[in-house]
Amino acid sequence: MKLLEDKIRQDGIAVNEHILKVDSFINHQIDPLLMQEMGKDIANHFQNKGITKVATIESSGIAPALMTAAAMNVPLIILKKQPSKILNQDLYQTVVTSFTKETNYELTLSKKYINDNDHVLIVDDFLANGEAATAALRLLRMSHATIAGLAVLIEKSFQPGRDKLQNQGIEVYALARISKMAENYIEFIP
Ligand code: 5GP
Repeated sequence: MKLLEDKIRQDGIAVNEHILKVDSFINHQIDPLLMQEMGKDIANHFQNKGITKVATIESSGIAPALMTAAAMNVPLIILKKQPSKILNQDLYQTVVTSFTKETNYELTLSKKYINDNDHVLIVDDFLANGEAATAALRLLRMSHATIAGLAVLIEKSFQPGRDKLQNQGIEVYALARISKMAENYIEFIP
């Protein structure tokens, strides 16, 4: 998506070869019109796929996921992070290892908001190693819902996330695909 690539070139900060900061328009301060356009683009790509719900992981996926859900006119489910494991019969639960924060956390979803009739699109801000998306998949599949795909704003294609998801039969749609980064240097896949 040209709009996003231009914005990343203008305001994104490549900290090093691994980390891109987009705090001024996605992660800390949000550009609402850009976010709305990105939501519409994702909704457009997945239209006529019978999607009943959009799901995301709190917290940085909420803005793009909400815009996508609004454009599709379906509910948004937020998979919630909890620091400790407290077993609860009303929840689906799975443990996630966060490489960026080097911690483990529990991802949870209330059984009330999902069932086997749901066809779910997962939306997140970044795809890197694919750990967060894989955990979301694992959790959603516990409910026997089916998965329509994964949409992300920014894919770091030099990391293994896309392959990991596609190997599980998941369609991956990314609005901007970065093939290479270095300090103050960003290269996109056309
Ligand atoms: P993954 O599980 O695919 O490795 O990474 C998932 C999460 O890590 C993303 O949802 C995002 O919040 C965060 N993340 C990974 N790489 C980056 C990055 O380069 N910049 C920012 N801002 N967040 C990242």
